[in-house]
Amino acid sequence: MSTFNWQHCFTPLLENLAASGLEDWADLLRRQLTWRFDDNPHGDVRRWHKAWSQLPELDDASVDLNRSAISLRSDSIDVPRQEQLEAGLRGLMPWRKGPFDFFGTHIDTEWRSDWKWERVAPHLSDLAGRRILDVGCGSGYHCWRMYGAGARRVIGIDPGLLFLFQFLSVKRYLGEVPVDLLPVRAEDLPPKLETFDTTFSMGVLYHRRSPLDHLLELKDTLRRGGELVLETLVVDGPEGFSLMPEDRYGQMRNVWFLPSCDTLLRWLHRTGYRNARVVDVTVTTTEEQRATDWMRFQSLKDFLDPEDPTRTIEGYPGPKRATVIAEKP
Ligand code: SAH
Repeated sequence: MSTFNWQHCFTPLLENLAASGLEDWADLLRRQLTWRFDDNPHGDVRRWHKAWSQLPELDDASVDLNRSAISLRSDSIDVPRQEQLEAGLRGLMPWRKGPFDFFGTHIDTEWRSDWKWERVAPHLSDLAGRRILDVGCGSGYHCWRMYGAGARRVIGIDPGLLFLFQFLSVKRYLGEVPVDLLPVRAEDLPPKLETFDTTFSMGVLYHRRSPLDHLLELKDTLRRGGELVLETLVVDGPEGFSLMPEDRYGQMRNVWFLPSCDTLLRWLHRTGYRNARVVDVTVTTTEEQRATDWMRFQSLKDFLDPEDPTRTIEGYPGPKRATVIAEKP
């Protein structure tokens, strides 16, 4: 079984970065990827790469990025290759962020990530021609939607390597497109990139022990006048208030700060953004996040109090998410 050739996967992007004045970032990434894949390989990478390698070759594949499911089509797929496809995709379970439609195989993911996109997209500056960073992009579902909305280049970053192989399962059918997923964390970006027109951070801020540092990191990625799109869990409360769970929140570890909307706006103001505004607040429902045939573990329903589903099982307010847009001066 061949091993994952990360150079082959990332060299086009690294060369593009070097050619666009970002040599330092390209050098840093080369070192980080060497460390990740060669020096400290994750135990499951061989298995995921094997599953990914099982996906059939199809030379007439096309994609539609503007539907709720990222949809791949082919006129030539036959039953044996359908079966090969299903086996490969099953080997990349659990599928959390989507949905996707691979040549008629519909992947109903744990999350209806398309619902989030519908809430966020109407409020964005036109993405046409923009260079976009999506921090904590998961499987890259929203990266594809951003590219479908006309972005010039999209870079997603997410440390989860299963997400990388899910992303590559789509990308292998598209050839050379300016959409990439880098398996690094926000903290691994070099300071003062100051290059992106729009930076997204959706579902990440509450995982950061130091949310203000996250906001500063995100600001560093943007050019002057660039747009931040931040989506995170919020709670009701006055300006200045935020909830720090004692331990878990909705069974999730690593949840640190859940601000009120007004506190979030203050954080953005204090970290130097301008024109910050809340464009959407939505309670997360068990229709939006649930177990499916492609994600068979527990999901939101199991993390809420059965007696009072407006609370988490720890007794905190149930998940409610806000989207905030702001600019870098
Ligand atoms: N943005 C997607 C996924 C959110 S889930 C959406 O909104 O649907 C949160 C993601 O953040 C996870 O995939 C997790 O791997 C990633 N993540 C957690 N800590 C991170 C960090 N420090 N830097 C970048 N990504 C991070």
